Amino acid sequence: MLQLSQEYTLKQLQSYVKDVVKQRGWDKNNDLELFLLFSEEVGELAKAIRYHRGLCPEHGHSGLENLEEEFADVLAYLLDLANYFDIDLTQAFWKKEEKNAKRLWD
Ligand SMILES: [Mg+2]
Repeated sequence: MLQLSQEYTLKQLQSYVKDVVKQRGWDKNNDLELFLLFSEEVGELAKAIRYHRGLCPEHGHSGLENLEEEFADVLAYLLDLANYFDIDLTQAFWKKEEKNAKRLWD
């Protein structure tokens, strides 16, 4: 298993999440469950952004820490979901970026 490091590349992070999910026994979810959990985290991120922007006056403003945590949760589930489908996100990102670079944008 990879050691926890703040210097991870996306590829290493994806591999780390794969190991950690197995180690913690979170590898029982199917693709639907994983996608729903990922979506739930996207919702939590939306809420954190609303709070951070002060769009929920009854809750005041939330700090940057909460935003960071929700971004981290979204990333973790995205990596987990990609692992489920054996998709190398780094490779997928650059492959798509190659297509985008050749596309004409209005
Ligand atoms: Mg969360």
